[in-house]
Parts: sequence; structure tokens; C-alpha cells
Amino acid sequence: RLDARDAAAWIRRAAELVSAEAERLTRLDAAIGDGDHGHNLHRGFTAAVAALPGEAELAEIRPGKVLIAAGRAIVSKTGGASGPLYGTALRRAGKALGDASEADAAAVGAALKAMVEGVQELGQANEGDKTMIDALAPAAAAYATALDGGAGLAAAARAAADAADAGAAATVPMQARKGRASYLGPRSTGHLDPGASSTALVLRALADVTG
Ligand code: ADP
Ligand code: MG
Ligand code: MG
Repeated sequence: RLDARDAAAWIRRAAELVSAEAERLTRLDAAIGDGDHGHNLHRGFTAAVAALPGEAELAEIRPGKVLIAAGRAIVSKTGGASGPLYGTALRRAGKALGDASEADAAAVGAALKAMVEGVQELGQANEGDKTMIDALAPAAAAYATALDGGAGLAAAARAAADAADAGAAATVPMQARKGRASYLGPRSTGHLDPGASSTALVLRALADVTG
């Protein structure tokens, strides 16, 4: 089960992984974009951590509220295409968790699905377009499959993180059809998509805090 403290731990862990990998993400973006993805996300997740309620308040509130607050902070502080996309994803996840004081494994699966839907509504990308969706959609699907197979939250989150890693790796041969990388046309092939890579970190963070 995921309570407000766990939701806050997820955001903190995501911020840690993003900071540790910021240079790599920026390098990936320099190859097919404008070289700011690591910087953008570091800024965004730092703002999200700063917006987290304190320990006392976390004991009182719903996990959904934590994710909505984090999403808002990311939207307001993150530049680039990825800010609104990540912010929307987290706000949608928070809304999907609703008023429950703890999210069970099924509720977390619904939140992941809501993240995919939110990013797709805003960004209009499908799988194969070389975007965040190529990590996020397989992660949500793998989570649901793991749950159907009897897995609990921790094992399903691990399956999701593994699927996100594989999904990100699979963007290398793809030609970008959305975002800045699409301006390169066929020259966008042969590179890992930065947003898919950072999405894999965010899913790994969830597995880290639920495992
Ligand atoms: P910008 O391209 O504005 O500099 P970032 O560098 O922070 O923004 O983010 C780039 C990443 O955003 C891409 O690698 C891609 O994964 C993701 N992205 C861009 N456009 C879309 C979209 N329409 N849908 C989903 N993800 C997208
Ligand atoms: Mg960029
Ligand atoms: Mg930019």
C-alpha cells in the first residue's frame, strides 16, 4: 500500500535519480534536442521536493494530494515540453488515487494508467513516436499484467520499472515524430530518447520506494 509518506518518498527518490543522471539526460538531449532535459527535470523535481508537505502533515493527508502538489510544482517550475507533461502525469496520478488514505496495488495501477492518458491527451504521442510514452505506456501495461498474475505492489512496480527501461532502450532505432527531436527527421534515429530515459528513472524510483 502507498500512503502519503510513500508518495512523498517516491517524489524524493525520483528527484535523487534525476539529479544523479541529469548530465546524462542533458547529453542525450544535446544529441537530438536542445540539451536541456537534465537541467529542466532537475529544476522541476527540486521544486516538487520543496513543495512536499512536512512530516506532520504527511501523516494526515492523502497520497493523491502529495502527487497533485508535486505535479503543480513541476508545471510551474519546469521549462521545456517535459515540464507540462510530467506535471500533468503526476497530477493525473494524484487525481486517480482520489480520496483514499492509502492506495492499494490496484489503485497504483489505475494511477499509472491515468499518467499515460494525461501525457497522451496533452502531447498526442503514441507508442513508437520516440517520447516519454515509449517508457510510460509499457510500464503501465507491465504493471497491470503483473497484478493480473497475482503480483503485489512491490513486484508489479518492479515489473513496471523493468518495462520502462526496456521501453526507453527501444527508442534508439525510432524516428521521432513528436517534440523537438522530430525536427531532425530520419537523423533522430540511433539515439536514446531523453524523455523516455527520464521516465524510466521515475518508474525505478517508484519500485525503489515500494520494494
Ligand atoms: P524541450 O524539448 O522543450 O527542450 P525537454 O528537453 O525537457 O523539452 O524534453 C524533451 C523530451 O520530452 C523528449 O525526449 C520526449 O521524450 C518528451 N516529449 C516531447 N514532446 C512530447 C510529446 N508530445 N509527448 C510526449 N513526450 C514528449
Ligand atoms: Mg530539451
Ligand atoms: Mg528546451
